[in-house]
Amino acid sequence: MTSYDYDLFVIGAGSGGVRAARMSASYGARVALAEEYRVGGTCVIRGCVPKKLFVYAGRFSGAFEDAAGFGWSVTGAKFDWATLVANKDKEIARLEELYKKNLRNADAKLFPERAELVDAHTIGLIESGKNVTARYILIATGGHPFVPDIPGAEHAITSNEAFHLKTLPKRIAIVGGGYIAVEFASIFNGLGVDVVQLYRGEQILRGFDDDLRTGLAQEMRKRGVDIRVNAQVAEIISEGDSYAIKLSTGERLETDLVMYATGRVPNTSGFGLEAAGVVTGARGEIVVDDYSRTSVENIYAVGDVTNRVALTPVAIVEGAAFAQTVFNDNRSGIDYSCIPTAVFSEPEIGTVGLNETQAREKHGDIDIYKSAFKPLKHTLSGRDEEMMMKLIVDAASGRVVGCQILGDDAGEIVQSVAIAMHMGATKADFDATMALHPSAAEELVTMREIWQREPEQV
Ligand code: FAD
Ligand code: NDP
Repeated sequence: MTSYDYDLFVIGAGSGGVRAARMSASYGARVALAEEYRVGGTCVIRGCVPKKLFVYAGRFSGAFEDAAGFGWSVTGAKFDWATLVANKDKEIARLEELYKKNLRNADAKLFPERAELVDAHTIGLIESGKNVTARYILIATGGHPFVPDIPGAEHAITSNEAFHLKTLPKRIAIVGGGYIAVEFASIFNGLGVDVVQLYRGEQILRGFDDDLRTGLAQEMRKRGVDIRVNAQVAEIISEGDSYAIKLSTGERLETDLVMYATGRVPNTSGFGLEAAGVVTGARGEIVVDDYSRTSVENIYAVGDVTNRVALTPVAIVEGAAFAQTVFNDNRSGIDYSCIPTAVFSEPEIGTVGLNETQAREKHGDIDIYKSAFKPLKHTLSGRDEEMMMKLIVDAASGRVVGCQILGDDAGEIVQSVAIAMHMGATKADFDATMALHPSAAEELVTMREIWQREPEQV
């Protein structure tokens, strides 16, 4: 029998890789990992966590404005970008150490360097120059920002750099209409930056429920974000301390900083996938089966590198399912049908299950329950902002198949709704649930009127 240095070698110590490594080790596997940048990966180092800290920072300005109606006068409030960045960096460094400690406690050996595949069982460690072997290899290398190849693209930053800006710009142009563009537009707007968001399509957040998309765009504009749709950037021109953006319509904008948030691509090139025989798909993603196995029998892949659903909890669950399947004799697939997600914009979006369009396609006959209202808080704050909640129900079974929320704490609310939906809750179950008063979430159990019902489809 061949003997290997390790039972498992994980490439990439991000959300998926770390979970897989720790769990596999807990099942008795001899585990090693390689990480070329910082332990914790995108989410901890330059994604979810620092982003959410910035989201909190941005929300203070709105809170100060809202405070006046409650009798507070907030005068002399000043924001210091350097303090925010330094405090964020300190917290991220703390978390990274915690991740390292957890790996040590799990007896997983960490190689702080780039790893490449030499063949299906051999990993080359680039800095130390040595090769190690493993029975199984898990690729959890994540992704990186994609910037389209337009003239002047080299002047643009991405979310990676946004976390480390030396100074806060006065004006920023953010290109894209997805999660990152929308979240950073709100963050910078909240911090007092003049934000223009340039999106190539008709409406931001393609793929989300249309009511959320239009509702959010409207509320963000009210808060001062200049969202321009059908705006395709043709060129970025450096003009000393500022930039000119030429749109394909010929229109020209001036800004101090250009940030691209136009999607992410899997990290699959240049580390020997071909040598090992691992097949990739059209977007460069590693192609895997329902158990995260690649085209090579002993090589698996989890997380963003597989381009399934690029969210941290999904990468973590995929990593855990891998460990169960390979090292705990428990073949575990993943249910992708009920994934809650939030866009931490201002106001926030929370969604789980199907949007209205998807529900019509899948179920045909659906009932929509919708409530748009001014949150109690804004009766005194005076802020002109509506909250929107929407339940989408399969008319035949009565099951709630989608929940869409726009407004404060939408993400927090949707996490709980996801439990009910995961258990198969019907609209009748929602109706039979006691309300919590006064809250915004009580709308979810008090909506009685069908808002709109499409004629039955044959
Ligand atoms: P990663 O966490 O990206 O880890 C991959 C690791 O592999 C990296 O550390 C990388 O350095 C390392 N690596 C790559 N190649 C090699 C190599 N050859 N050798 C050694 N190491 C290598 N998701 C949410 O659920 N909620 C959010 O609020 C959220 N916010 C986000 C905000 C931003 C700005 C971004 C960019 C992403 C956000 N995400 C969010 C998505 C989330 O961060 C990812 O889905 C998640 O981190 C994916 O985990 P992963 O393990 O697949 O990869
Ligand atoms: P998204 O896929 O969410 O959005 C990409 C945006 O860029 C879309 O609006 C897309 O337009 C646009 N775009 C793509 N290519 C071009 C191009 N060539 N020119 C102009 N615009 C273009 O990616 P993000 O980068 O925002 O985020 C990556 C992923 O990370 C997310 O999908 C999500 O999975 C995860 N994430 C999750 C967060 C959360 O959970 N809160 C927060 C941040 C990221 P179009 O729609 O027309 O294709």
